[in-house]
Amino acid sequence: MATGTAFVVRNPYDVAMENFDIAADALELEQDIRAMIKHPERVLTVTLPVRMDSGHIRAFRGYRVQHNTGRGPAKGGIRYHPDVTEDEVKALATWMTWKCAVVNIPFGGGKGGVACDPKSMSLSELEHLTRRYTSAILPLIGPSQDIPAPDVYTNPQIMAWIMDTYSMTKGYPIPGVVTGKPISLGGSLGRNEATGRGVFYTVESACEHLGLPMKGATVVVQGFGNAGSIAAQLLHAHGCRVIAVSDSRGCIYNQAGLDIPKVIQQKEEKGVVAGFPGAEAIGPEELLALPCDILVPAALENAMHAANASQVKAKIIGEAANGPVTPEADRIFDDQGVFLIPDILCNAGGVTVSYFEWVQDEQHLFWEAQDVYTRLERVMKTSFNDVLKVHLGRKVNMRTAANMLGISRVAEATRLRGLYP
Ligand code: NAD
Repeated sequence: MATGTAFVVRNPYDVAMENFDIAADALELEQDIRAMIKHPERVLTVTLPVRMDSGHIRAFRGYRVQHNTGRGPAKGGIRYHPDVTEDEVKALATWMTWKCAVVNIPFGGGKGGVACDPKSMSLSELEHLTRRYTSAILPLIGPSQDIPAPDVYTNPQIMAWIMDTYSMTKGYPIPGVVTGKPISLGGSLGRNEATGRGVFYTVESACEHLGLPMKGATVVVQGFGNAGSIAAQLLHAHGCRVIAVSDSRGCIYNQAGLDIPKVIQQKEEKGVVAGFPGAEAIGPEELLALPCDILVPAALENAMHAANASQVKAKIIGEAANGPVTPEADRIFDDQGVFLIPDILCNAGGVTVSYFEWVQDEQHLFWEAQDVYTRLERVMKTSFNDVLKVHLGRKVNMRTAANMLGISRVAEATRLRGLYP
């Protein structure tokens, strides 16, 4: 993970496997089904030669993983980040399988990534890389097979290039091959803010469950990209006091509350949250340890781990990021009585509206923004209550409850489909 930050490396695939075993044991899942659903179905590694602006060729390493397609085509984002590894992509694909099942949408789990530093690349280098990556993973993707979407440091423009490259090979436009596209290319209203909006709905449900008023609740957000900034904006708009936010280059803090729309404006204009007028600069570890009601990790994996979890003072943790809390930290939070909304529930708004986008593309019939929000709220709150029921009924923590729900739905589909002899 990025240097000089709060992150301690733990192999995310080991974490995914450890959490699978905890939930599978609690379900008393039979070994035959475990053997069928635990590991990825397909792992593709590709080398991507790209001519850089210097005129020289550079080879990038990329991946596409399909973890499970028992309930439908693989679905999952594409990450561009220097630290992308095969194991990280396998972990993210695994989480996508359980996540799609928790929100009960007819997709399996997939994920992609390219080890690159998009911040140091020109637009034209990013376009060449994206088109080459799309060509390289072409045998795996398609609207009925595997549908990518944005993740860390990828965006609607990159999705547009993927859609175009794929469509060129077929000879006609195929918008349903990818989601998170620009609206003018078959994107869905509400997709851009879907992950943050879903985080908001689940945090709202958690506050209701715990009897914690949202008005005046203090919030800390780590990571101020798509997921984090929109979650912060919605929480701010609903009366919460967002006292600190961070990005990869700095953390800002103001106990009286930050004006989030203005922080977003600065981030858009300057690319950083640091230097926001009236806010104090603090360190990444200090940010996580701030006394607050709601902590939203919205950056990368392993943000909270054995060494720093006991410093956390939040009542609720809403995991906007995938895998921000290690199993060791989970145990510490259980002891501290922290209410954790696990990633595969909390950030599932993104894939849910990706599903809506795919449905609209396939039907060539587009919905109004309010339709998207209403349906998303219903899905997120129903899923929250489904997970809460397992948490309370089976006396397991919220992560295990969500994993049990997701895994049991995938297991059921697997049993019904049987095994090709
Ligand atoms: P993004 O690229 O829009 O933003 C990432 C943010 O994290 C940036 O603000 C970046 O500066 C910040 N960041 C990176 N390293 C950091 C560090 N060490 N400390 C603090 N901040 C740091 O990415 P995103 O789409 O918002 O994704 C963030 C997380 O949410 C990821 O874990 C991703 O998998 C997850 N997620 C995203 C979506 C989606 O639809 N975009 C859906 C589900 C889950």
